Amino acid sequence: MRKCIATVSVSGTLGDKLDAIAAARFDAIEVFENDLMYFRGSPRDVARMAADRGLGIDLYQPFREFEGAGDEQFKRNLDRAERKFDVMEALGAPMLLVCSNVSPLAIDDDARAAAQLHELAERAARRNLRIGYEALAWGAHVNRYGHSWKIVREADHPHLGVILDSFHILSVGDDPAAIAQIPGDRIFFLQMADAPRLAMDVLQWSRHYRNFPGQGQLDLPRFLEHVLVAGYTGSLSLEIFNDVFREAPNRSTAIDAMRSLQWLEEQTRLRLLDAASDIPHPADVRARTVRRVELLDLPVAPVLTGVAFLEFAVDEAAEWLLANVLETLGFHRAGRHRSKNVTLYRQGSINLILNAEPASVAREYFAEHGASVCAVGLTTDDAVRAQSRAIALHCPRFDSRLGPNELRVPAIRAPNDSVVYFVPAELGSGALFESDFDLRDEAAPRAAGAGLTRIDHIATGLPVEELDTWILFYRAVLGMVPGESLELSDPFGLIRSSGVASGNRSVRAVLNVSQSQSTVTAKTVSLAGGASIHHVAFASSDMFETMAALVAKGAKFVMVSANYYDDLVARFALPEAQVARMREFGVLYERTGDGEYFHAYTERFADRFFFEIVQRVGGYDGYGALNAPARMASQLQPPAS
Ligand code: MG
Ligand code: MG
Repeated sequence: MRKCIATVSVSGTLGDKLDAIAAARFDAIEVFENDLMYFRGSPRDVARMAADRGLGIDLYQPFREFEGAGDEQFKRNLDRAERKFDVMEALGAPMLLVCSNVSPLAIDDDARAAAQLHELAERAARRNLRIGYEALAWGAHVNRYGHSWKIVREADHPHLGVILDSFHILSVGDDPAAIAQIPGDRIFFLQMADAPRLAMDVLQWSRHYRNFPGQGQLDLPRFLEHVLVAGYTGSLSLEIFNDVFREAPNRSTAIDAMRSLQWLEEQTRLRLLDAASDIPHPADVRARTVRRVELLDLPVAPVLTGVAFLEFAVDEAAEWLLANVLETLGFHRAGRHRSKNVTLYRQGSINLILNAEPASVAREYFAEHGASVCAVGLTTDDAVRAQSRAIALHCPRFDSRLGPNELRVPAIRAPNDSVVYFVPAELGSGALFESDFDLRDEAAPRAAGAGLTRIDHIATGLPVEELDTWILFYRAVLGMVPGESLELSDPFGLIRSSGVASGNRSVRAVLNVSQSQSTVTAKTVSLAGGASIHHVAFASSDMFETMAALVAKGAKFVMVSANYYDDLVARFALPEAQVARMREFGVLYERTGDGEYFHAYTERFADRFFFEIVQRVGGYDGYGALNAPARMASQLQPPAS
C-alpha cells in the first residue's frame, strides 16, 4: 500500500521532517497546517521540497468548524475554504481533511451539515480537489464514523467522502465492523494510530499519547481488515500526536513509523489469509481483498526457542569483577576463544561470554557504554529468515569480524546498537562454541554448579523516549508479544515496566523506564549512555536448594525487610516454615491464579548490574513486578546489622 505520514508525527522544522520521512522511504505526506504556517517559504516551495525528496502530498489538514454553521457563518466558511483551496493548488495537495465541528455554536442538523458539505464539495470539484470528512471522537454532534458516513451519503457528491481515523473510532469503543459496509471508493483516506489504553479525557489522550501501530494496545490489524474488505485501496497514513515523538530524533521516529506500517500490513494480510479469523467475512471476499491490495509479505517472524548466549563487553578490570560474581553464582569457566581475549562461562544451558578483546566491536561498545551486554544470541528456527525479516524492517545488518574457521551467525543491530545474533536451533550450544572456543577447561574437574538451568528473562533500562521503539522492535522484528505493563514505585520515582515474551514463552524480556531522573533505573541508563540490560534472571527448578548453594559459594543477595515477610504471611496464608526460608535467603514471592513466582536479587555490582534467581511454578507468566518496589527499596538500604 502507498505509505503516508502526517508532518505532525515527527520532530523538527518542515525541511528536517521531510528529510527524515523521505529517508524512511515513505511515498507521501499529509501537510499539517501548522507546519506550513510556520514555514519560511511559499506553498510552492514546500511542493518543490517534497518533490525533490520523492514525496507526494496526499492531504492537507485540518479544516475546522465548517459544517452545521448558521447561514451567515456558512458564507464566511466558504470564503475561508477558497483560501485553503488556493494553498492546496500551490502545494499540489488533492484532498482537504474537514474534521467534524467541535464548536458549541454548531447546529445539530444532519440535513444542514449534508447540504453545506455538498456545497463545499461542489466548490472543490471546480478545482478538481476532494473533501474528506472525519468524525472526531469529541465532535459536538458528529463523533462516530457511522454518523459522518450518513451525512456524506446524504450530501451525495462524488468529490466528498469519509476519512477514517482508527484512534477516533477505537478510543471510544465504537465497533469498526460496519466499516466493511461502506463502499470502498467513498472512504477517501485512512489514518492509522495506536495508543496505550489510558483512562483519561479522549481529547488529551489523542493529542498527547497516540503512537505507531504495534506500539499501543488498539487492535489495528483487525481494524484495517474491515477497511480493506470495504474495498479501500488508497493510502495507509499515520497521524500521530505524541509528546515524546515531538522531541525525539526524527530519523529514528520515521524509521519506527515505517516499521509500524510494514508490520501492520503484514499482520492484516495474515488475518485475511487466516480461515480461522474471528471476523466472519466470507472466504471469497477475503481472497478478493488480498488480490486487490498489495499487502507486504514479510519473511515470517522467527520462532524463538531460547537465549543461546549473552555477550558482555568488558575491559580487564570489569572482566575480573564479573568473573568473580559469576563464580559465586556457580558458573564455571568453560573455555577461551581460540584467537581472542574472550572467555565462556557456563552453567546448565546458560552461556555467558566475557569479551575483553582490544580492537573489537565489543571494545568499541565498551568504550561507549561501559561494561554492558553488547550482544544477545537467540535460538531461532530459521536464522537467515529471521535476519531477512529484520533487515526488511530497517534493522541494520551486522557482520562480525571473523577469524579463520570461525562460525558466521546471522546478526542485526538492536535499537541501542547492541547485536542480536540469530542462532540456528540445529547448532545447539555445543556446535555453536566448538569452532571458535577451546573448550578443554570444560573437561577439567570442578565444583558442582548451583542448579541454574537457563536464562528466564533479560531486563533493559531505557530512556523514556525509547520505550515505544523497543516495544515495536520486539513485536515486529522478533515476533514477540507485549504482556503486562505496570507502574512501580522506586523510593525516588516511578518506573514503568513492560514485559514482552515469545509466543512459546521461551524468550522473555522486560523493559523499564523511569520518568524521574533520581531512580536507580534512571541512573543506570545515564551511566550506560542509553538503553542497556541491567539485570539477567536465571531460572532454577529448586529455588531453596539453589539459594543455599549460592550462599555457600559466597553469592551476595539483597536482604528484604522483615515487614515484607509479615505481610506475605497475611496476604497469601503461606506456611510459616516456607516463609522462614524465604526470609533467610531474601526470596520474594508472587502468586497469580495457580502460578507462583519465587525470586531473589543479587547485590548490584559495577553500579550497573544485578542478577536475579527465579523459579516459576504452574502457569505464572509475569516477572514479579509487584515485588520490584521491595527490591528497589532494599537495594538502597544498607543490610541490617
Ligand atoms: Mg485524524
Ligand atoms: Mg526481573
